[in-house]
Amino acid sequence: MRLSNLPLTTFKEVPADAEIASHQLMLRAGLIRRLASGLFTWMPLGLRVLRKVEAVVREEMNNSGAHELLMPAVQPAELWEESGRWDVYGPLLLRMRDRHERQFCFGPTHEEVITDIARRELKSYKQLPVNYYQIQTKFRDEIRPRFGLMRAREFLMKDAYSFHIDEASLQATYDTMAKAYTRIFERLGLSFKSVEADSGEIGGAQSREFHVLADSGEDALAYADNEDFAMNVELAPAAAPAGERPAAARAMTKVATPNARSIDQVCQQLAVDPRQTLKTLLVEADSGADKADLVALVLRGDHALNPIKAGKLKGVADPLVLASAERIAEVMGAQPGSVGPVGAKVRVIADHSAAHCADFVCGANEDGHHLTGVNWGRDLPDPETADIRSVVAGDLSPGGNPIAIARGIEVGHIFQLGNKYSASMNATVVDSNGRETAMLMGCYGIGVSRIVAAAIEQNHDEKGIIWPPPLAPFDVALLALNGKKSEEVRSSADKLYETLQAAGYDVLYDDRDARVGVMFADADLLGIPHQVVVGERGLANGVVEYRNRRSGESSEVDIAEIGAHIATQSAG
Ligand code: ATP
Ligand code: MG
Repeated sequence: MRLSNLPLTTFKEVPADAEIASHQLMLRAGLIRRLASGLFTWMPLGLRVLRKVEAVVREEMNNSGAHELLMPAVQPAELWEESGRWDVYGPLLLRMRDRHERQFCFGPTHEEVITDIARRELKSYKQLPVNYYQIQTKFRDEIRPRFGLMRAREFLMKDAYSFHIDEASLQATYDTMAKAYTRIFERLGLSFKSVEADSGEIGGAQSREFHVLADSGEDALAYADNEDFAMNVELAPAAAPAGERPAAARAMTKVATPNARSIDQVCQQLAVDPRQTLKTLLVEADSGADKADLVALVLRGDHALNPIKAGKLKGVADPLVLASAERIAEVMGAQPGSVGPVGAKVRVIADHSAAHCADFVCGANEDGHHLTGVNWGRDLPDPETADIRSVVAGDLSPGGNPIAIARGIEVGHIFQLGNKYSASMNATVVDSNGRETAMLMGCYGIGVSRIVAAAIEQNHDEKGIIWPPPLAPFDVALLALNGKKSEEVRSSADKLYETLQAAGYDVLYDDRDARVGVMFADADLLGIPHQVVVGERGLANGVVEYRNRRSGESSEVDIAEIGAHIATQSAG
């Protein structure tokens, strides 16, 4: 493509409202344009990348035996009422009415629609298993749309849904999808990890997430190198400390800690290690319990509460609800920064590590005061214990190896749904004994548009994007320096454009009447793997300059050899 024909606007300035690199670079490189919060137009260059992702996803889904279909984006409320989700999905669901006042939503996901298809199409176990997929626009009215395409409101997803007569068949397709996802992310040239994930309200069901590794990732992933252990930190179990709790050595003493609201401030004022302190977080009990009930969750000062684990505790509201400062003051008699478990009139649940502490510091339930030298069993009852913290680097894995933490961007999720939808929506088939039985289901999502942003997040430098070759909008950027002034440059570059295309390369030909600096800056910003620079000086010696976007290396190459030279260059 000739750049002189493409209305491409790039800019140097970092857009004020874009917080992360991928969002900034997609705007600066003219890949996307924002329409409104969480809504973006894919501009021509960006769309080329999106289509490449789509093509790989489609090919691997087809190869794994899935069947592509395309469901409506708009879905009738009745289906969601059947599954029971109309009332529980909440504000993420964009609801609307048609001219007859019938209610609809813009699909955030398609379990209901596909289950309706399946119950109409599938009558006998002999037709199973079936795996349907689509690549389609979703809408989720996210509370905080941000980071551009990373967390948009309208985005492109590949979603697949499989139907089975039994667990073994579901497991087989689930395993096939896990393999297909691995191939997809390998083929896209991305560095990724698959981890065991939380399967939400469906107990026992398997679920895996696929994450593109990047420091800016929203998720923390726990893994151990020499062991088959990789889990989302949301789920990763924290081992209880080994051995007996140390014996009490000090007396409990109340000390003033004026204005100390955080563990850091307390540690500074009292010159203690955070591991010697306990923090107390108050959360709402679940709705079954007395409305006035709060539950105190106690953690070691250096540990962080894991809201997913804590939400699963019996008697605790799920999702977890932190108590307001007013409620805490009312129930505990002190502000949040000064509360503690000693004398607390609420249920106390301590993390295993917190329950293992002796002579610790905690809030005194009196504003501006803490207690030191506190001991379980002596100064307050031994607590109920549970695993409620997030693992940190260095904790031991279930296999006894040190855990490392990486950050990831969730780009895929596979999930065993069981009969959640088929039972509520009556999607049954006749089994081998002639009995009607609810089908088992699996679902498998890939964030097609998020992959583009995640790829940039993982592959960029201060100059711009560095596309993994399978995703690049073009293979080669051809730059004709001062081509408008030099007839020789223009005709050589024109010829090279033809030759490289004939050799099978997708070429973006910068034939604009632009300053040399602008051409180089745009080529780096756009991140096309190979750059070929045609200039008057080189042509005098029969050479062009080859530049590799990723390594930054450049070399002079005989003009007749450039196609062959590109083929030998690794752009990955
Ligand atoms: P998240 O936890 O990031 O909100 P999710 O678990 O709700 O995602 P799924 O329902 O599993 O998402 O959807 C499948 C895939 O769709 C996700 O793995 C992710 O890659 C992508 N996705 C989900 N929400 C968005 C969004 N708002 N913008 C872009 N992609 C998204
Ligand atoms: Mg998910």
